Amino acid sequence: MEPYRIKAVEPIPFPTRTERERALARAGHNLFRVPAAQVTIDLLTDSGTGSMSAAQWAALMTGDEAYACSTSYVRFETVVRGISGFDEIMPVHQGRAAERVVFSTLLGPGDIVVSNTHFDTTRAHVEVTGSEARDLPCPEAADLDSDQPFKGNIDLRALADLLAGPDGHRVKAVVMTVTNNGGGGQPVSLDNLRRVRAVCDEHGLAFLLDASRFAENSWLIRQREQEHRHREPIDIAREVFGLADVFWASLKKDGLANIGGVIGVRANPDLAGRFRQLVILNEGFSTYGGLAGRDLEALAQGLTEVTDPRYLADRADTASWFAETLHKAGVPVIRPAGCHAVYVRAGEILPHIPAHQFPGHAWSCALYLEGGVRAVEFGSLLLGSGGGTAPHELVRLALPRRVYTRSHLEFVVEAAIAVGRTADDLTGYRIVGGSPALRHFTAVLEPVAFP
Ligand SMILES: *Cc1c(COP(=O)(O)O)cnc(C)c1O
Repeated sequence: MEPYRIKAVEPIPFPTRTERERALARAGHNLFRVPAAQVTIDLLTDSGTGSMSAAQWAALMTGDEAYACSTSYVRFETVVRGISGFDEIMPVHQGRAAERVVFSTLLGPGDIVVSNTHFDTTRAHVEVTGSEARDLPCPEAADLDSDQPFKGNIDLRALADLLAGPDGHRVKAVVMTVTNNGGGGQPVSLDNLRRVRAVCDEHGLAFLLDASRFAENSWLIRQREQEHRHREPIDIAREVFGLADVFWASLKKDGLANIGGVIGVRANPDLAGRFRQLVILNEGFSTYGGLAGRDLEALAQGLTEVTDPRYLADRADTASWFAETLHKAGVPVIRPAGCHAVYVRAGEILPHIPAHQFPGHAWSCALYLEGGVRAVEFGSLLLGSGGGTAPHELVRLALPRRVYTRSHLEFVVEAAIAVGRTADDLTGYRIVGGSPALRHFTAVLEPVAFP
């Protein structure tokens, strides 16, 4: 059960079917453009959508808004140091701000960065420097039916081959994303991370950690990697951070707050100085990084709550219960589930809709019309901007932290079952407007008529 009780509640909207149809049409059939007031259950993202605890709300009031070296910064720095062991800690306003600082400093044209999978903003910030972002996910990641426990791992053999080959000298860094958000929220094992450290030592590469879901990954290591089953999640997290040279995180995830990010640098005052200069240029003085003192307080408190084993056990259990319940109801999903989302295999539910007519998008729109549930397509609409198609046509049902109970998710399961009953009647979509960069945010679409 949830290891907390509810102290403040917020009513949720219940638009009628007609209102939902109107809202979707007005939004150009793009769920990013549907007003939140027309959404009953919002599973669009787990980023910045969590509930804060009573202790976090209380901490907000103690926010010190001094411009430099505020008390709130000192508290934030102390907490982040305690978890990460890094000496230089710089807050920034969110994850992509950290990526901009890190990559514009470390990379130049022609460099290669390798990752288990770059998250989309990570890839964009690598590419904008003229470098190449190369994903080397483990082979099991492509197999939706594999029950391999660590489908977020990097392919160590492919990494060794790349380093031994003609492009080897261009590789500057390895980015490990925990958990692997772009790869379905799958965890990375501690064994895989330790081996990456050894490869980086051998070849003089920087080990960069995208730690946005460090607590969830630590929990999944404890659950799935035999030798760590008795360790505390905070202890596993400390070891993971200890492997990296530089880390950053979007604290809109495991920071348990609504905004924030952080960069950490270990034992490299020169590099920290270069990062600090860019933080000051882009974000604000390096002890607030675009955040208010009260945000730093909420984050410091959230970061002490997120490694609580009871919280993490409930989060992981809820995700796996949600995935298993959908599966048993005949809705195909990726299993085993991670922590932050369940991915529906929409391409298999709607085999009559070709990839270029976005079956995942069709399923998401149908789910919204059925129950007012907002999800996001993770298929050829989101991944196929270059004109290509995605390997799988998925829909992500993200789980905001501490927001919805299981009965809310039962409602989502019922809506998903109802969509399945109408599958044969659903049609694809085509894009008729919007801008090409990250096109899923702005696309205007219309349903394709049956031939
Ligand atoms: C969300 C996320 C980011 C980007 O962070 P923002 O706070 O959205 O800018 C980077 N990496 C990963 C793995 C993420 O999940």
